[in-house]
Amino acid sequence: MLFSCFFAAWLLQAVVAKCADTVAAPWSAADLKSKLSQNANIVSPSNGDWTTLVARASYPRINPAYKVVVEVATEADIQATVKYANKYEIPFLAVSGTHGWPKTLNGLKGGIQISLRKLNRSTVDKGGKTATIGGGSLQWEALADLYKEGKQAVTGICECVSVAGPLLGGGHGQLQNQFGFAMDNLVSARVVLANGTVAVASAARNPDLYWALRGAGHNFGIVTSLQVKVYDVGQWTVFAFIFLQEKLEALYTLVNKIDTPKTRPGKLMITGVFARVDAIDPVNPAVIYTVSYEGPKADMQKFADQFIALGPVSTTITENVNYIDLYTVTGNDKNNAVCRKNNNILGAGAALPQWDMQGLRTAYNTFSNYTLDPRFGASAVLLENYGINAAMKIDPKSTALAAEERTRPILVSAIMWYEGDDAKTHDDARKHAKAMKDAFYRGVDASKEKRHAYVNYAYGDEPLPELYGHEQWRLDKLKSLKKAYDPKNAFGFYMPLA
Ligand SMILES: Cc1cc2nc3c(=O)[nH]c(=O)nc-3n(C[C@H](O)[C@H](O)[C@H](O)COP(=O)(O)OP(=O)(O)OC[C@H]3O[C@@H](n4cnc5c(N)ncnc54)[C@H](O)[C@@H]3O)c2cc1C
Repeated sequence: MLFSCFFAAWLLQAVVAKCADTVAAPWSAADLKSKLSQNANIVSPSNGDWTTLVARASYPRINPAYKVVVEVATEADIQATVKYANKYEIPFLAVSGTHGWPKTLNGLKGGIQISLRKLNRSTVDKGGKTATIGGGSLQWEALADLYKEGKQAVTGICECVSVAGPLLGGGHGQLQNQFGFAMDNLVSARVVLANGTVAVASAARNPDLYWALRGAGHNFGIVTSLQVKVYDVGQWTVFAFIFLQEKLEALYTLVNKIDTPKTRPGKLMITGVFARVDAIDPVNPAVIYTVSYEGPKADMQKFADQFIALGPVSTTITENVNYIDLYTVTGNDKNNAVCRKNNNILGAGAALPQWDMQGLRTAYNTFSNYTLDPRFGASAVLLENYGINAAMKIDPKSTALAAEERTRPILVSAIMWYEGDDAKTHDDARKHAKAMKDAFYRGVDASKEKRHAYVNYAYGDEPLPELYGHEQWRLDKLKSLKKAYDPKNAFGFYMPLA
C-alpha cells in the first residue's frame, strides 16, 4: 500500500514535471505585447504590414528569418523585448533602415525583428552644438529635423539609410572630410545591452563601451538614441561630370593628385561611379564623377577646372544647393534608384591607399563584361574619395575603428543589383563582386600591404582582421569587451566579432 502511494506520488510528479517541461517553452505575441507600451505593435507574417517591415535592400539574397516583428515605440519596449527574447531563448535583430547587406544576417533563424523605426525624431540640444537623434531615424528624417534649426550632422550620403547603421561601423559621408566620420562625432549614446539593461556610453560613462561602439557598434547593443555634434548648414556647388571610358586613367590620376590632405580643401567632396548610361555610350559603361563643395562656385572653380580640362562628355553645374537638396542633386535622395529595396543588393568593399591604374582598368573591364549580362545590367561600382583630412587627425587608438580606415582615402565596392532568387544568379553575382574586389586590391596586394574593408561594405566572408584591424591588441580588446557585454553573442548577426 505504502509502495503504491509512493509510486502514485512519483508518477504525479513526473507527469507534472513533464507538463512543466512542455508548458515552460511557449511564448506568445499577446504575452509579449502585454509588456510593451501602447504605441508598440507586434506584426506577424499574416499581417498586412509584414511585407513592408521585412523588406530590405538586399532581399531575397539576404533574408533573416523572423517569427514576428516588434515595432518598438520606446526604449523600455526594447528592454522588454530583449528580456522576453532572452527568457525564451529567441534570437533577435535590431533593424533601422534595412540597408545592411552582409550575408551573416542570414544566420538569424526564427527570430524577432526589433524595428526601431518609430524612434525617429531628432532635436538640436540646448546650446546648439549637439543634437539627439533617435536610434531608428533614417537620414532624411534626421536631416529634415536638424535643417529646420539650421544644423547638419555627419551621416552617410544616402537619404534612405539610417543614421545609426553607418555610424556604428564608421559612417562615411559628404561632411567627413571636414568633421571626421559620423562616429567621430558621437558624443554619447543610450544603449540597450544584451541583458536588457540600459547603459549610457560616452567619454565619461562606460568609456570602454563608447570605444567599442565607434567602429564595432553593431556587436554591442541596440542604440536607442545618439547624441552627435552638429554644425551650421551651408550652401553647396555641385559639378556633375560624365566621362567616357578612355579618360579613366587620366581622371583617377587627377584624383590621386588632388586627394592628399595637403592639396585637398576640407570642403571638397569628390566621388565617382561606373554605370551604364546608354544615352552617353551604348557600348561601354561611363564614369560619372561628382565634385561638390560647401561654398560658392568661385571658391572651387580651380578644382572643377582640372576635371573640365580632361574633357568630360557632359558637365552639369548646380549652384546654391542647400544641404537637403544636395541629396537630390547628387542622386542620393530617397526616391532615387539607389534606395530601391528587394533587389538583392550585394557589395564587396575594399579600402585603398590610392588608385592603382592597372587594377582600376581590370575592374572597369570586368564590370563592362558582366553588365552585358541583362541580369546585372543595372549594377554600378562606387569609387569614393570622401576625404580623410579630419579623420586622420583623430588618434586611431581612441576608437574601435580599424586604423586602416583612417589612412586609406578610397572606399570602393561593386554594387550588384539584380532580380530574382535563383542560386546560380546569386553565385554569379558573388563571383563578379569578388573579381572586382581582387582587381581593386591589385596595388595593395602587389605592395604586400594588408587588405582592409569597411565593415559596412563587407560581403560577409572577410576574416576579422580585414574588417576590424590587423593590430592584435585591438582585436583582443574587442573580443574581451564582447565577452563582457554580450557573452552569449546576442548581437552576432551583423559582421560578428564572436
Ligand atoms: C543604398 C545604400 C547606401 C549606403 N550609403 C552609405 C554611406 O553613405 N555611408 C556609409 O558609411 N555606409 C553606407 N551604406 C552602408 C551602410 O552603412 C550599411 O548598409 C548599414 O548597415 C545600413 O544601416 P541600416 O540601418 O540602414 O540597415 P539595417 O539593415 O536596418 O541595419 C544594419 C545593422 O545595423 C545594426 N543597427 C541598425 N540600427 C541600429 C541601432 N539603432 N542600434 C544598434 N544596431 C543597429 C543592426 O545590427 C543591423 O543588422 C549604404 C548602404 C546602402 C545599401
